Amino acid sequence: MPIWTAYIKTDNGRHLARIAFTDISERKQAEETLRIAAIAFESQEGIMVTDANGVIQRVNNAFTRLTGYSTEDAVEKTPALLSSGRHDKHFYQCMWTTLNEQKYWQGEMWNKRKNGKICADWLTITAVAAPNGNITHYVGTFSDITSNPESLAEIHRLAYYDLLTQLPNRRMLLDRLRQALAASNRSKHYGALLFLDLDNFKNLNDTRGHYIGDLLLVEIAHRLNANVREGDTVARLGGDEFVLMLENLSDNLQEAAIQADLVGEKVRDAIALPYRLKGLELWCTASIGVSLFYGHEASVDELLKYSDFAMYHAKKEGRNSVRFFDPEMQATLIERSALESDLRHALGRQQLRLYYQIQVNNERRAIGAEALLRWIHPERGLILPEQFIPLAEKTGLIVPIGLWVLQTACAQIRDWSSNPATSSLQLALNASALELRQPDFVEHVRQAIFTTGINPALLKIELTESQLIDNISDTVAKMNALKALGIRFSMDDFGTAYSSIAYLKQLPLDQLKIDQTFIRDLGDNSSNAALVQAIVLMGRTFGLDVIAEGVEIEAQLEFINLHGCHAYQGYLFSRPLPLEEFEEFIERV
Ligand code: C2E
Ligand code: MG
Ligand code: MG
Repeated sequence: MPIWTAYIKTDNGRHLARIAFTDISERKQAEETLRIAAIAFESQEGIMVTDANGVIQRVNNAFTRLTGYSTEDAVEKTPALLSSGRHDKHFYQCMWTTLNEQKYWQGEMWNKRKNGKICADWLTITAVAAPNGNITHYVGTFSDITSNPESLAEIHRLAYYDLLTQLPNRRMLLDRLRQALAASNRSKHYGALLFLDLDNFKNLNDTRGHYIGDLLLVEIAHRLNANVREGDTVARLGGDEFVLMLENLSDNLQEAAIQADLVGEKVRDAIALPYRLKGLELWCTASIGVSLFYGHEASVDELLKYSDFAMYHAKKEGRNSVRFFDPEMQATLIERSALESDLRHALGRQQLRLYYQIQVNNERRAIGAEALLRWIHPERGLILPEQFIPLAEKTGLIVPIGLWVLQTACAQIRDWSSNPATSSLQLALNASALELRQPDFVEHVRQAIFTTGINPALLKIELTESQLIDNISDTVAKMNALKALGIRFSMDDFGTAYSSIAYLKQLPLDQLKIDQTFIRDLGDNSSNAALVQAIVLMGRTFGLDVIAEGVEIEAQLEFINLHGCHAYQGYLFSRPLPLEEFEEFIERV
């Protein structure tokens, strides 16, 4: 579109020509920007661009020069292509947490080249968001710092020390622990490993902000260092987890235990003293698990596991306490590891089943069902999810198991579609945080729906508050993508975790599921009654359905019905049933 027009006239006044001018400055600018971007892209640093799911879309020439992988090798793969195996899960978890929260991560990463060589790269990842805030891409730039002598000291510091507190990190701790075991073997003296986890740190982080949280961690590192002897190691494993390694305790077991206990109590007291941070007065306590070591009786991994397990018991028993690893815990651990190895075969050996529990409306008509996982163990019989889901989550087995649940549930909706008694039932399934965090989660759901050809509105995914909040922007993006397919979402166990209305507003939910603990104690706990009322009201405000789970007796039903909750699940109507029994049952209601 011309913006102005000039006429060239001859002497006699006739128009000879008309010239139209168009404003090309904007276009020129855009071209210039593109040209600069293209040159910048071909910089000396390796660059890879992935989509929001971490699938590589583009790499530059320097990427190929540094890694040996061509564009064809890399595109459509994930950065796992470069994985050296030198970083543990925890490393990546921390990276993703920072990336999700700050949209940016920088650090040293060991990567494997195409020729197998392991190199240290200095990597910066930046998340690219669309105007609506959804992440669309990640851009990673890196340079090889392996051979740079100035950076070697830095590499060492990055590799062995925690950046925030300057304490030794997990890797350094493991090195020192190995040495300590060898030293104890020679000296015949005991040592101790104290695993320390702060109580409610997440709450503090959420309410006071990460900056205060970080200051607190630094102060805790000081207090820990002040309470151990020189030569002992204080390490930070990450998050709010610290480990103290004490060496050269007594050569007598009882005496060594007393010494370790003294240090544990001293540290516990020191942490419980008030903190003054940026004008705020704060309190914090710690739960501590202790295991003793003597020579090579236990391996490094086992010792960490023992202390961690004892810490977990300290938490369970009310927090702010010191707990020793004991033979009973050992027996539980052995049993757990047997179960863990069996669980690895459960899926392949077809030992998993879905049970179905009916959901009804206030006329007691079936409106849906929840699919609940059961493990039919060849020797132990029926195992409930509480006993194996945490294991499956810890080992990552929940990902293939969750996929099986998804596919089985979709196939079930399809099978039910031809029977009028079941064709309109909404089937809810539970998904774990780890499943949700998989980059291909959305794709898997899409495929399951596509291959079974079901009506997506009949599938509901139940998520819990804590898993939603952990990774809010990623979660919202995935939920929105699934919502676009027509799937519904329910927030399970609602009211049990710390969550705010601000979060609730962001999430594309359809339903709140009132946790069964509130329903159970309705009769003798008036605050629970108020809570149920509040949740119903909240649901109404946000335009969400509300369902109550764990309804066991008529009085509970009456109460929640009176307060506006008109969907229920619980033993009053039926327990979760195996498929055949459920199908028989549903014909009768
Ligand atoms: P949930 O999703 O909150 O499921 C409800 C639990 O309450 C089920 O326990 C159900 O059997 C139980 N329940 C239902 N009605 C009543 C009642 O009236 N009284 C009482 N006392 N309990 C009732 P279940 O089947 O043992 O499952 C426990 C948890 O395991 C589930 O809690 C869910 O978080 C998890 N889970 C179950 N299946 C799966 C799965 O396929 N994947 C994942 N990731 N988690 C699952
Ligand atoms: Mg559930
Ligand atoms: Mg629940």
